[in-house]
Amino acid sequence: RQEQYRALRDVPAVTRDGVAVGLQLNAGLIVDLSHLGETGAEGVGLFRTELQFMVAERMPSAAEQQVLYEAVFDAVGDLPVTIRTLDIGGDKVLPYMKALEEENPALGWRAIRIGLDRPGLLRMQLRALLKAARGRPLKIMFPMVATVEEFVQARGIVEREKAHLTRHGHPLPADCRLGVMVEVPSLLFQMDEIAAEADFLSVGSNDLMQFLFAVDRENRQVANRFDPLSAAALRAFRLIAERANAAGTPATVCGEIGGRPLEAMALIGLGFRALSMSPASIGPVKAMVLGIDAGAVAAFLERELARTKDGASLRPALAAFAEEH
Ligand code: PEP
Ligand code: MG
Repeated sequence: RQEQYRALRDVPAVTRDGVAVGLQLNAGLIVDLSHLGETGAEGVGLFRTELQFMVAERMPSAAEQQVLYEAVFDAVGDLPVTIRTLDIGGDKVLPYMKALEEENPALGWRAIRIGLDRPGLLRMQLRALLKAARGRPLKIMFPMVATVEEFVQARGIVEREKAHLTRHGHPLPADCRLGVMVEVPSLLFQMDEIAAEADFLSVGSNDLMQFLFAVDRENRQVANRFDPLSAAALRAFRLIAERANAAGTPATVCGEIGGRPLEAMALIGLGFRALSMSPASIGPVKAMVLGIDAGAVAAFLERELARTKDGASLRPALAAFAEEH
C-alpha cells in the first residue's frame, strides 16, 4: 500500500471524468512541512499557528513568530500556504495565559473572539506574518468567525497593519488574500454575504459538525450520535459548496473528514475541488480521486439526498456505490 501511494506522488489528482482536485496538507509545526515533498501535496491548506504557542513556555515574541513564519515560507518554497490566525481557547489552552472560568469553553471566549476583543495579540501576529511574507503571496485565514461583521472587522485590522508597515518602509506581501473558516453554523445562513466578502473559504468540519449536531468533538460518549455522511450534514456541505462556487470563491475542506476517502468522495460529489488533510491521508485520498467519476458521484448523491426520508446516514449507500464503481 505505502509503495503504491508513493508511486502516486507525482500523478495529478484528477478524476476519471477530468475533474482536478487540489490535495493539500494540514500542518502546525515546521517538521510537518517535511511531508510536502514525499506526499506530493499541492501546498498547505491549513497551517495551525496555535501549535507554536501551545508548545512554548511563554508567549512567543513578535520576533519569534516572524522567525517561524519565515521558516514556513522557506519550507513551502513556491507552493501556496494558508496560515490561520491563533485559534486558542476551547480545547486549546495556553499554559502561560490565564484561562477564564467558563461553563462552556467551546462556546466561549476563543479564536477570533479573543483576536477582536484584545486586538494587541492579533495585531502582533498579523504584523509578524506580513513582515515574514514580504514580496511573496500570503493567505491568512480567520477561525471561528460567526458573522460577516467579524470578518470585516478582522480585515480592517489587517489593513491597518499593512498601512503601518508601509509607513515604516517595510515591503508588503506580493498579494494578500483573506479567508474565513466555515465552522460555526451561523455562517451557513450568511453564505452569499461571506462568499462575497472573503477571498476564500475553508470548511472546518471538526467544529462545524460539533456545533451543528451539538456533539462535543472530544467526548467519546456521544461521538456516534451523528455521521458526517448523514443527510443533514451532507446538505450543509452541499450548501457551502454551491454558494461558494456560485460566487466564484474558492472553498476547501480542511477538517478531518477531507482525509477519509469515502467522505472525501462525497465532498467532491457535492462540489468541493480542494481538500486539506494530514500527510498520511494524501495517498489514500488520491487513489480514490483517480478511481471515481465525479459526475456520477454528484448524480448519485443528488438522487439519494432527494429521496432519503429519515435522516439516516448515507454511509452504507455511498460505500456500496464506491464498491461498485
Ligand atoms: C476544524 O474545526 O475542522 C479545523 C480544521 O480546525 P481545528 O481542528 O484546528 O479546530
Ligand atoms: Mg476548528
